[in-house]
Amino acid sequence: MRKSVSKITQSVHVGSFGDPLFGGVTNPIYTSSAYDYDTEVRYPRYYNTPNQKAVVEKLAALENGEDGLMFASGMAAIMTSMFAMLKQGDHILFQKDLYGGTHHAALHELNRYGISFSMVDTDDLDKFEKAIRKETKVIYIETPSNPLLKITDIAAVVKLARKHGIVTIIDNTFASPVNQNPIDMGIDIVTHSGTKYIGGHSDLCCGAVISSRKLTAKIKESALHFGGSLDAQSCYLVERSLKTIVLRVQQQNKNAMVLANFLQAERKIGNVFYPGLKDHPLHKIAKKQMPGGFGGMLSFEVKGSPDKFLKKLKMIKKAISLGGVESTITAPVKTSHAKLSAAERAKVGISDNLLRFSVGIEDATDLMEDIKQAL
Ligand SMILES: *Cc1c(COP(=O)(O)O)cnc(C)c1O
Repeated sequence: MRKSVSKITQSVHVGSFGDPLFGGVTNPIYTSSAYDYDTEVRYPRYYNTPNQKAVVEKLAALENGEDGLMFASGMAAIMTSMFAMLKQGDHILFQKDLYGGTHHAALHELNRYGISFSMVDTDDLDKFEKAIRKETKVIYIETPSNPLLKITDIAAVVKLARKHGIVTIIDNTFASPVNQNPIDMGIDIVTHSGTKYIGGHSDLCCGAVISSRKLTAKIKESALHFGGSLDAQSCYLVERSLKTIVLRVQQQNKNAMVLANFLQAERKIGNVFYPGLKDHPLHKIAKKQMPGGFGGMLSFEVKGSPDKFLKKLKMIKKAISLGGVESTITAPVKTSHAKLSAAERAKVGISDNLLRFSVGIEDATDLMEDIKQAL
């Protein structure tokens, strides 16, 4: 499909080859784990069965990448990419605000394999650059971040990584491929927890890596060994979900903007964190690097008891995870950041009253009504 085709058209058509046997318009699910090996050696763990390739084609088109791999979870995608790029003696520089699972994985896994790491704030990029060592092989960022929606300047990080010849990885889960395409800005490897916006219906667990052909081949070498490939049935569901990702995320963008403004004006609400708000410290950078929109994630502080507020919500569901068509809300104190002490949480700016809101595709007025009655 020609490159100038819009995202919404790509989301429907790229990789959706249809049914060659009966002329059906959707892809058949090829469950086979045994294929004739004369033309190509196909096998589910080789990431090359028809349903795996169909999803990768669609996602690569949406991310402006050349190739990719589908994994059984976001963490499988993240850890496989990391281990594929690193070896004993290497160093990886992380941005400080990371998804809890990635943070824990770094703490528990990397040193055991002789890989050192640092976690540094990207607010001050001079300080970030100073953390680069001669053995630094990977820079890893995540923007917008969880749960405070902090923004990292992608182009600036790419510039300094290139100066030092370092590979860059970004976790693009929060933005989704609809809003932010880091490969356009020079990022080498994009990872997603497909469990979130890519799946979009809170019923799938998967992950993706999108990159150049060359780097994908390198990641694939390790991916074959770690064996985290996604099965055909789930690949089909992901491909189906992706057909509506642009529609879903556009509605979530719109709703989140309305909700952020509404919350900011509410007397019983404290700080509101959303990159679409003009008073977000890096609003201008967010606007530049998220041309599709500011996303469906926001967080805010309630004055008074967050537990009482959560209990009174009728439509917005108290649940972990995010990116589904239904609105969900969590208290980071009890979920993603439960393992930090109160002092540690205070240091990163996560108060006990903070709530993280994954805005769904419902009518924005209905969402506001639910919040109003709960307040
Ligand atoms: C959920 C999440 C992950 C981990 O993905 P899983 O699919 O749960 O393995 C990684 N990064 C971010 C930003 C996430 O929200």
